[in-house]
Amino acid sequence: MTTNISPEFLDETVQTLREYIRIDTTNPPGNEGEAARYLKTILEREGIETRVEEPAPGRANLTATLKGKGEGRPVILLNHMDVVQAEKEKWTVPPFSGEIRDGYLYGRGTLDMKGMGILELMALLYLKREGITPDRDIIFLAVADEETGGVMGAKWMLDRHPELLKVDGVINEGGGGVLDNGKSWYEVSTSQKVLCQVQISAKGEGGHASVPKEPSAITRLLDALEKIRKHPFPPVLIPTVQEYYRRVAPLQKAAWQPVCQDMEGAFRRDDPLLKEILADPINHTMTHHTAAITVLRAGEKVNVIPTDATARVDCRLIPGTDPDDFLDALKEIVDDPNVAVEGTFKGINPPPTPHDTPLFHAIEKAVDLHDPGAIVTPHLVPGATDSRYFRAAGVPCYDFIPFRLPIEERMRIHGIDERVSIDNIRFGVEVMIDILLNMEG
Ligand SMILES: [Zn+2]
Repeated sequence: MTTNISPEFLDETVQTLREYIRIDTTNPPGNEGEAARYLKTILEREGIETRVEEPAPGRANLTATLKGKGEGRPVILLNHMDVVQAEKEKWTVPPFSGEIRDGYLYGRGTLDMKGMGILELMALLYLKREGITPDRDIIFLAVADEETGGVMGAKWMLDRHPELLKVDGVINEGGGGVLDNGKSWYEVSTSQKVLCQVQISAKGEGGHASVPKEPSAITRLLDALEKIRKHPFPPVLIPTVQEYYRRVAPLQKAAWQPVCQDMEGAFRRDDPLLKEILADPINHTMTHHTAAITVLRAGEKVNVIPTDATARVDCRLIPGTDPDDFLDALKEIVDDPNVAVEGTFKGINPPPTPHDTPLFHAIEKAVDLHDPGAIVTPHLVPGATDSRYFRAAGVPCYDFIPFRLPIEERMRIHGIDERVSIDNIRFGVEVMIDILLNMEG
């Protein structure tokens, strides 16, 4: 079924997003209470049952359920209400003004992810207003705190409401449509890398800088970091990524196409083109553990050799890798009794969501209605979303925002002048409605 939304409905979608953007939910502190009240007013006006819970003063999680016929378990439309900080002075338009310029709605959260939240909300309202009773319950779940780990948001809700795990699937942020050189394709993230944060601490003899002795804490740390940086972590191919390359093969340059078609074969025979393909940063992160050195601390005074030096390394592991095994490997790479390697945070390591499911096919069909013939593919997302809490319990999660974004627009997420085009809002809400309609029957 194709939707034919009215210009008034589109205007309402844009206007609702503008007002939602104007609620500053920068986390910390979050202030999702006000955002939840805004959404609750809309949902209750439409006669949709809504519940708001407060994990802490000012913080809130909202659940609204559009009742279905009870055929099949519910599907959750997940979104987070908080946003990351915006450096106001660097923006062309104030980040919480909801201003429209040259066909774009600017604002912190337009892409991550208040925009998607409003697409989900409006799709729910569309079904309700059209008098469509879905086969199953559709749960709109707007949570707090995603940007600082979800402890007061998704995790808080799942600890208290285990029924939210008895569902057939979750649609959330993560992947989306990509526009590049006039071509568009759609990445539905079905897996994410496993976070492993590491602290590396070196000790050594201190003293006056006029008589330096090696090794010192600092030189030991530098050597350790250099070993990690130069270590050739071998590529790992998981089925999700193999399928991703198979589907996007026609978009690659001619020489790469046969290799992408059969990545497993290419890995087996160690195809010489692999090196070139996997050198691209995006391809690299989808096939390798990565270790980014992000914090360095040592010394206070220029003429004193310090006794301690520490670094922090943000590691993202290929799914299926146990963070403890990875830490053991790092210790062997560093191989220095005066340098300690410890994990400070180990992420959840859930199995990837399968892509041969009715919900994935509903997304494929909805995209095809609005961008006929475009490639839709499962995908491994390098970052982390709230989906990990659901996937850890075996719930299929599809991380997919139906906006078509050029790479340049994507880079604005968490950055300066985050924005979404009015065309994308129209496209997104139509696709979202069709995903819900295609899930049925
Ligand atoms: Zn987000």
